[in-house]
Amino acid sequence: MDAKERLRAYLEQRRELGESEYLLDGLSVEDALAALGAIGRGRAGDGPGTGRGRTPSENATASDTPVRNAPSAPSPAPVSGPVSGPVSDAPPRHAPPEPTAEAAPDVRDEPSREVTVDMKAFTQGLVVGDRNGGLFEKNPFSDVRSLKALAEIIEKCTRCPLYKTATHAVPGEGAAKADFMVVGEAPGANEDETGRPFVGQSGQLLTKILAAIDLQREDVFIANVVKHRPPGNRDPKPNEVEACSPYLARQIQLVKPKVILALGTFAAQTLLETKTPIGKLRGAVHRYHGIPLVVTYHPAALLRNPAWKRPTWDDVKLARRVLDSAK
Ligand code: URA
Repeated sequence: MDAKERLRAYLEQRRELGESEYLLDGLSVEDALAALGAIGRGRAGDGPGTGRGRTPSENATASDTPVRNAPSAPSPAPVSGPVSGPVSDAPPRHAPPEPTAEAAPDVRDEPSREVTVDMKAFTQGLVVGDRNGGLFEKNPFSDVRSLKALAEIIEKCTRCPLYKTATHAVPGEGAAKADFMVVGEAPGANEDETGRPFVGQSGQLLTKILAAIDLQREDVFIANVVKHRPPGNRDPKPNEVEACSPYLARQIQLVKPKVILALGTFAAQTLLETKTPIGKLRGAVHRYHGIPLVVTYHPAALLRNPAWKRPTWDDVKLARRVLDSAK
């Protein structure tokens, strides 16, 4: 791709994420795209969302405004390929990417990898657990040595009734040693059908959001709090979350990400053990058992509320800055 194409792809991403006021030598996104001959391509992802189709919790926070503003991040480097285009309803039919480094057991938990971030550079949020403790104690899966082995257990899970109504379990996928981990709520219809996380319309938006901070989907690990689809995309019940949470805890322990991005109210409140509205959790860097955690809106909510694209862009830039500063 030549420099012009890269610039076009970069600007189109900014536009899709609602960033109209980005300035380049005095030009707005629209001006710059017009100069590149990309007028009238329209925005992707602004149509009605079909993501999980459920929003009581997301809608409950529609009026939330951020109370804390993280320092703004430098714009990321242009991504290496075009990411614009219409968002389709159809789930991708290609095979899931092979998790990397799955041949050998994942032993990054021995000894534990500490994530060192200069927290003074960020607005500090909630602290859940500490890096040595709680999360991994009494985990029934603590002797499961790889994500692949854990996924096989999840696929046969009967710890709560959700398996009875689901077609496939959705354990999660991505790089086994990812530095960046994304946590959503629960599988929707497309995910239930394919056994893969975030493959529907909101998943396609997630892929674009990741690309906007120069992360390919294959480079991150994507999981949900709950591994089977709740019927009709209802919110997961407390007993379902409780039954499923050791899986996510063990995944986090095995992946040992440097940053977790929690998508939406449900994932954020579950991980941070709080009822604080998402609008008040955004903009800060929380600590989840020692791992920096950033909160943003769920892509399905973004599809319904394009005005949230801009704050989401701020959040993912914050997550990127944390990732870049983590050692
Ligand atoms: N929404 C989620 O929270 N997770 C998915 O995997 C898909 C949609």
